[in-house]
Amino acid sequence: MRHLLLALPFVWLPLIAQAHDHAHEHAEHGSLGAHEHGVANLNIALDGKQLEVQLESPAMNLIGFEHAARSEADKAQLENARRELEKPLTLFALSSNNCRNTRIELHSPLFYEGVHEHHHSHGHDDEHSEIHAHYQFECTNELKQLSLAELFKRFPATEKVQVQLIGPAGQQGLILTPSQPRLSF
Ligand SMILES: [Zn+2]
Repeated sequence: MRHLLLALPFVWLPLIAQAHDHAHEHAEHGSLGAHEHGVANLNIALDGKQLEVQLESPAMNLIGFEHAARSEADKAQLENARRELEKPLTLFALSSNNCRNTRIELHSPLFYEGVHEHHHSHGHDDEHSEIHAHYQFECTNELKQLSLAELFKRFPATEKVQVQLIGPAGQQGLILTPSQPRLSF
């Protein structure tokens, strides 16, 4: 399987560049987080029948916190988000396009922090954490559209998704929101 997104030279469009400047200001008093709560980034590459999607989201948008999951409620919330993120055909409205999910990778420090929580159990609530999801699909139909309506519904703290799209029409940057969740290839 080729790694479409990694192989392509990404040119950040002005829209995204501005968002990054803002995020850097926001991050000065934070530790890890060059990110803005409520906003996620989505990289999408469609090459023939192969679709690759990378979601990079502040953990806040998906689970409502960014510290290590300590309480049972935190852990349940994290597990719930993981289960939702493992259903990308639903999240991206791809099941009606005969798309098959061929790869899922979820990355976040929060998935591994339980082991260490006693070593830094104080004063770290100001840390920023992200959850990244990497998906690949094979679709038998020519893919025309993708919708994030389910993603916005299941993760209502996500207010805006900044999309970098590479498809048959070239590269474009766009913003999707709960009232405008759809993109066309
Ligand atoms: Zn944050």
